[in-house]
Amino acid sequence: MRASHILVPTLRETPADAEITSHIYMLRAGLIRQLAKGLYTWLPLGLAVLRKVENIIREELNNAGAMEVLMPVVQPAELWKESGRWDVMGPEMLRMKDRHDRDYCLSPTHEEVVTDLVRNVVVSYKQLPCNIYQINTKFRDEIRPRFGVMRAREFVMKDGYSFHLEEETFEETYRAMFNAYGSILSRIGLEYRAVEADPGSMGDGESHEFHVLAESGEDALAFSPNSDYAANVESAEAISTIDRPLPTAEIEKISTPGILTIEAVSDFLGIAPSRTVKTLIVEGSKGPVALVVRGDHTLNEAKASRLPLVKSPLTFLKEEALLRDTGVTKGSIGPIQLGIPIFVDHSASNLADFTCGANEAGFHFSNVNWGRDVDLTESVDIRNVQEGDLAADGSGLLEFKRGIEVGHIFKLGTKYSDSMGATIQDRSGKNTPFVMGCYGLGVTRIVAAIVEQHYRDETMHWPIQVAPALVHLVAVNNVKSEQVREAAFSLYSRCLDSGIEIYFDDRDERPGVKFADADLVGLPYRITIGERTLANGVVEFQSAGKEIEFLTADEAIQKLINANEGSS
Ligand code: ATP
Ligand code: MG
Repeated sequence: MRASHILVPTLRETPADAEITSHIYMLRAGLIRQLAKGLYTWLPLGLAVLRKVENIIREELNNAGAMEVLMPVVQPAELWKESGRWDVMGPEMLRMKDRHDRDYCLSPTHEEVVTDLVRNVVVSYKQLPCNIYQINTKFRDEIRPRFGVMRAREFVMKDGYSFHLEEETFEETYRAMFNAYGSILSRIGLEYRAVEADPGSMGDGESHEFHVLAESGEDALAFSPNSDYAANVESAEAISTIDRPLPTAEIEKISTPGILTIEAVSDFLGIAPSRTVKTLIVEGSKGPVALVVRGDHTLNEAKASRLPLVKSPLTFLKEEALLRDTGVTKGSIGPIQLGIPIFVDHSASNLADFTCGANEAGFHFSNVNWGRDVDLTESVDIRNVQEGDLAADGSGLLEFKRGIEVGHIFKLGTKYSDSMGATIQDRSGKNTPFVMGCYGLGVTRIVAAIVEQHYRDETMHWPIQVAPALVHLVAVNNVKSEQVREAAFSLYSRCLDSGIEIYFDDRDERPGVKFADADLVGLPYRITIGERTLANGVVEFQSAGKEIEFLTADEAIQKLINANEGSS
């Protein structure tokens, strides 16, 4: 690539509406340009990275037994009506009409199209499992497109779909795709975690999200430093292993005038919030239900709403209803003689001698003990995990980090094959719906994630395997100096002959401008050719973050060849 021939519109200033590192860097280094909100053009340096990421994905998926296809982005409404999603998709799906007044949409995803394909072309169970993927454009009219290509409206996704006769082969393919995702992200040079996705949203099917760890990530992850265990903070399981201590004191009713919060109770009695419990009343299918968590813990609404008696979505009882249905007021509620079903979080059920509201305004009980003073009906997991909690696999104490979701794989089961009548004849000749899996990977989002993870100390540190090019060749005053020009062009073509990807700044620009651009783009190596060093028969050679070396052109090329081999 020659700078005089391609567009690399670098910016000296930070663009006004860019908030996160990757968005700022990708605009400043001239990788992308915005056309309109959530719509981006990929310029040559950005496209070079995107293509490398795509190729790594292709290689790993092909190796894992998937086949690449390319499906239309414009899709007829009929298919979406068959699956029942035409009316469900909402405004994220962009709809349009053709010249015959027929409805179409711009694909937000491809389950319908791929199911239609397979029901028509796969006729025998002998053709299964069938594992199809594409790398293609998606359009989702996101309510809040932001962070550049991280959450765009038009973006590139690798979406894959597998079709099976039975569960066993689905499991096998799911495992293969899970492993391929790991290989892809490792090869790209990303630190990631595979996270079991929220079981609530996916039913009992298997589902994993792949997250790249980065401060700017939209998701909060809880993980064990000692194992592969990782989960979304919102859905991470809270376990409890301590046994409840025995009671040591008699229950006591204490006057606590005007004290309504856990904080105030703790202060007033001089005890830690973890020695108290709070009782929350929510609407249930057969009247109100009480949920009890430790004073220092917070209720996890998703977990609580999955309890059989509790109404979903979770709805807290209003003040008037509270008084009417339970006779108590907010700030004084406790589990003793409450007269409604009570679910107690594991950590709260492990307490002895705890403090709680007395169901009477201005009073609390202290030294309360389960079993002795109040029945412990059911101990459940209904709280949010905290840093330092024991991980659900028991391997260590949870740490929190933020993650960027780059991939999501899950079991679709027969959702689409049932609704779209996609069946296959099994060995006995009986028609049975396909069992399906679905495997998404955000290709353009991955490029932004690479930047998030590898931009440090105000410099981009491209992993060699996905860098826009291996080396940045800066020719100093190449227009004035014939000697420089000749040496630079010779090095450039020798690099090309050796299969080295080189970005040659041959523009008629001041050296300062060229160096500033080279600093900004941040390629793994830089070679500078100027009259002064040429007089000594050498060039300046620098690998990112290291001292400048003075090497002959031969030595420099050899180093680059070695680097190339090391990265492949
Ligand atoms: P998110 O929760 O981030 O909206 P999603 O659950 O809608 O993601 P999927 O439908 O599973 O995502 O799509 C697969 C992958 O496509 C995601 O893991 C993500 O990497 C990528 N992706 C989804 N939406 C966008 C977007 N608006 N811009 C860029 N990439 C996206
Ligand atoms: Mg989404």
